[in-house]
Amino acid sequence: MKNIIFIAPPAAGKGTQAKLVSTEYNIPHISTGDLLREEMTKESEIGLSIKKDMESGNLVSDEVITTLLKNRITSSDCKNGFILDGYPRNLAQAKKYNELLNELNLDKGIVIFFDIDKEVALKRTLSRIICSNCGSSYNLLVEDLKPQKENICDRCNSELKTRTDDTEEVFIHRFDTYLNSTKDLIEYYENLGLLHKVDVSTKDAKTIFEEVKEILND
Ligand code: AMP
Repeated sequence: MKNIIFIAPPAAGKGTQAKLVSTEYNIPHISTGDLLREEMTKESEIGLSIKKDMESGNLVSDEVITTLLKNRITSSDCKNGFILDGYPRNLAQAKKYNELLNELNLDKGIVIFFDIDKEVALKRTLSRIICSNCGSSYNLLVEDLKPQKENICDRCNSELKTRTDDTEEVFIHRFDTYLNSTKDLIEYYENLGLLHKVDVSTKDAKTIFEEVKEILND
């Protein structure tokens, strides 16, 4: 059973690694952001309360997120494990999650922290371009993520543009906020002996994946 938590600051390539791990081990990639957005489309009571929090940029309450997560990780496709992305986001959630794992008789799992140098992450973010039509994302600095034709989307042939929210100022704010909010979380998992750090600043996706596999197969 591979029960994995991914922790990574913006632009660390977490999404790419999640896809690779999900395919290799045949386990689902569970993003709590996606889980919440899906619930929001249902006009349920819980969906409406999520909508209010997400639209105001607040974290959804621990109670709501834990209930949704419990339902998700007890689904049949999670029997071989799962990758959690976006949860736990802080120490309180990590403690709640531990209780949940105990209750479900699951092991404490493996935590992978993708560490990236802020300057590298900033450069990557500023080289990101997206398709104005289908939203596909590319990166001029990352070999695997470059479009085949300059400034043209591989999928729909539309023009590629820089994201308007990818400015240096916005990035630095997001990056620092992330580090601040996950500091305690990382320390907590380090103390439990569950944390594995992978430095991604100078490596390509394939090399990083090899390191991740080594951790998971250990
Ligand atoms: P994301 O897609 O991970 O950026 O998440 C989008 C939004 O979903 C966040 O701004 C929060 O409102 C909510 N969210 C995602 N994960 C969590 C979580 N673990 N705890 C509370 N709220 C969350």
